[in-house]
Amino acid sequence: MPTLFISDLHLDDTRPAIVQTFLDFLAQDARSATALYILGDLFETWIGDDDDAPLAAQVADGIAALTRSGVPVYFVHGNRDFLLGETYAARCGMTLLPEESVHDIEGVSTLVMHGDTLCTGDVEYQRFRAQSRDPAWQRAILAQPLAARRALAVHAREESERHTQASMAAIMDVEPASVATSLDRVHVRRLIHGHTHRRAVHAASGPGGHSERLVLGDWYDTASVLAVDRISARFVDLKGDSRAGPLPRGAL
Ligand code: MN
Repeated sequence: MPTLFISDLHLDDTRPAIVQTFLDFLAQDARSATALYILGDLFETWIGDDDDAPLAAQVADGIAALTRSGVPVYFVHGNRDFLLGETYAARCGMTLLPEESVHDIEGVSTLVMHGDTLCTGDVEYQRFRAQSRDPAWQRAILAQPLAARRALAVHAREESERHTQASMAAIMDVEPASVATSLDRVHVRRLIHGHTHRRAVHAASGPGGHSERLVLGDWYDTASVLAVDRISARFVDLKGDSRAGPLPRGAL
């Protein structure tokens, strides 16, 4: 049975079809997995675990049914859903992972992360990231009423879209030196991350030997799943065609 990896679903009420694809995936294909890793940006926005919107409840019910069936689910925060907390994770029965962690995946020591920390060329984003991961900043946000947080989320999305469109593509991709540093720090040969929406398998040779970097696809034109077993790592599309599309504008 493979271990499955997904990221960058960006679930949102404006795309009900992709929400349904995810719920079907949880109820069907994911049931035969060894484990499911969600590497960030499951949601387009996350305004707090007390969000009473139907989407949060629907997704929690779907993940909880999967974990109850015996499939462990792990979650890494993305740059959209970094406020997702222990309360919601417990509701889903899933385990929150730190921003970087190493796991034995089907016999291969593997580093998993969202991937935004590798985009070190994006100085403006990294500045926001440092601020938004500060517990005091998060407490101040979460202390605001839900309506105020919804308004903040709309503003944050607009800012993110503006930033993505104004930045050169190279800045929005990972920095090779940061990839090398991350891999060397933990002495692993395989890195799996999302965030850039640039599904690919990259091979690299460095002082530590041969390594590979698997970049997850998103859930826009396709619904991309990485299935890793003891023999191979392969991408599966749950819907649509498998052509690599352009980066959705403002989607990161
Ligand atoms: Mn992201």
